[in-house]
Amino acid sequence: MTRPVLDVRELRKTYGTGEATVHALAGVSLTVDRGDYVAIMGSSGSGKSTLMNILGALDIPTSGTYLLDGVDVSQLADRQLALARNRLIGFIFQAFNLIPRTSAVANVELPLAYAGVKPRERRRRAMAALEVVGLAERARHEPNQLSGGQQQRVAVARALVTEPALLLADEPTGNLDSKSTEDVLEVFDQLSAAGRTIVIITHEDEVGARAKRLIRLVDGRIVLDQRQQQVLTGRHAS
Ligand code: ADP
Ligand code: MG
Repeated sequence: MTRPVLDVRELRKTYGTGEATVHALAGVSLTVDRGDYVAIMGSSGSGKSTLMNILGALDIPTSGTYLLDGVDVSQLADRQLALARNRLIGFIFQAFNLIPRTSAVANVELPLAYAGVKPRERRRRAMAALEVVGLAERARHEPNQLSGGQQQRVAVARALVTEPALLLADEPTGNLDSKSTEDVLEVFDQLSAAGRTIVIITHEDEVGARAKRLIRLVDGRIVLDQRQQQVLTGRHAS
């Protein structure tokens, strides 16, 4: 059996002490296999950001274990944690976080520059990633010359370009109108069909409905974890 991309056991995260103690995560266990596409949903305060930060190796749990592509992240010191994060995870944020006045292709190249990839190879791989998100012809455009949906697709290309084990998206459509949301969801559909492993945190039912698997959090616990029929829309339906 191949090892899961995520293997999370009994994660707990507690903030504060005494009367003020908050159990942001109260024992979360889940595994995500390679190629799965998971949406994590829950109301405000349910623990989504706390879980995302731990899955993204941005924070450590109070207790419990977390293996990311077989690596026990809870045992890593800060430097190793940062290395594991860069090597294993592609992040996509609600606010895109592109570098202004910098071309799309240069934005996508950035993680490869940090990883020490040579310029010519960087350019080749960044262009291939832009191709995947359908923006090769916008490679020279700067963020302010792109629509919100296009900016988020550049951010998806940037997340992809290092070939991470996991794509981790936090409210990726939170700042987008419905047309742009659809464009970004089509990219996720396509990446999922190509075998990528995707975890999306979202408030939006129509976004959650597109994933292969839906997990619902209430008060720091998983109350639902189910496979779903994939909704076929847009290009794929016609
Ligand atoms: P969500 O992202 O689903 O809104 P969070 O993970 O942000 O939920 O928060 C879960 C719970 O933990 C909430 O009750 C929140 O107030 C609390 N919490 C989150 N971060 C902190 C923190 N740094 N200090 C104290 N409490 C926190
Ligand atoms: Mg949150």
